Amino acid sequence: MSMVELEDVSQVYVNAKRAYVALEQIRLTVNPGEFVSLIGPSGCGKTTLLSVVSGLLPPTSGTVRIAGETIWKPTPKVGYMLQQDYLFPWRTIRENALIGLELLGRLDAKSQEYADELLSEMGLAGHRDRYPHQLSGGMRQRVALVRTLATEPELLLLDEPFSALDYQTKLQLEDLVASMLKARGKTAILVTHDISEAIAMSDRIIVLRPNPGRIRQELEVPESIRQALPLEAREKEGFHELFRQLWGAFETEEGKGGTDE
Ligand code: ADP
Ligand code: MG
Repeated sequence: MSMVELEDVSQVYVNAKRAYVALEQIRLTVNPGEFVSLIGPSGCGKTTLLSVVSGLLPPTSGTVRIAGETIWKPTPKVGYMLQQDYLFPWRTIRENALIGLELLGRLDAKSQEYADELLSEMGLAGHRDRYPHQLSGGMRQRVALVRTLATEPELLLLDEPFSALDYQTKLQLEDLVASMLKARGKTAILVTHDISEAIAMSDRIIVLRPNPGRIRQELEVPESIRQALPLEAREKEGFHELFRQLWGAFETEEGKGGTDE
């Protein structure tokens, strides 16, 4: 069974002045354990698509199925992690990591133990009692990831989670996140505007084009690149060729100009 199935999903934003088609007839399937990246120029509907998959934004038309069930609202099967970490400044790292479990009413000895295990794996064990402002950006994103994983979602939605980080931190975190998700057999959809990141982390890449937001191209990442961790993947044969191919898909789209009307 597919983990995610979008059937002819369209999303229209309406305001006083106009109706804007942010997504048009999107068909998309993601298999269990698969890591898929969504890339495309700013405004092409990437965040909208994630919000629809999360259940936060009911699509104007079409169907969203998660693990075979049509969804109408957010479900604990799906964890959503944003670019901004949204940690509560008055809570310790550990208390922040437990928020999702609290909200779901699932905070018990076993779930806390699991959260602590995740904190250790993310190299945060020694920081459990500190506060967000005492941590670096990369560490805060790791806390946000632990919080998302603590409720054991089957599917992770990651909206540009590394884009506010410096380059080196970003590369380290890519490796950490990739190995953690693989080890736990999680399914993930990553939104990024970084082509290298998409290739290095994914099994499959979906390129969107704007106005209206549609799927422009879908690419499988070759096995040899997939098997390597993101940092090492960048050195693999075929990486640069794939990069150029995807770069080309962006360029022609941007080159057309005037995407906003
Ligand atoms: P991306 O994440 O790829 O940058 P978004 O999904 O955020 O794109 O937005 C897609 C398009 O929909 C953009 O043109 C954006 O301006 C528009 N849009 C996004 N959210 C809203 C909203 N709440 N109301 C109206 N228009 C929106
Ligand atoms: Mg976005």
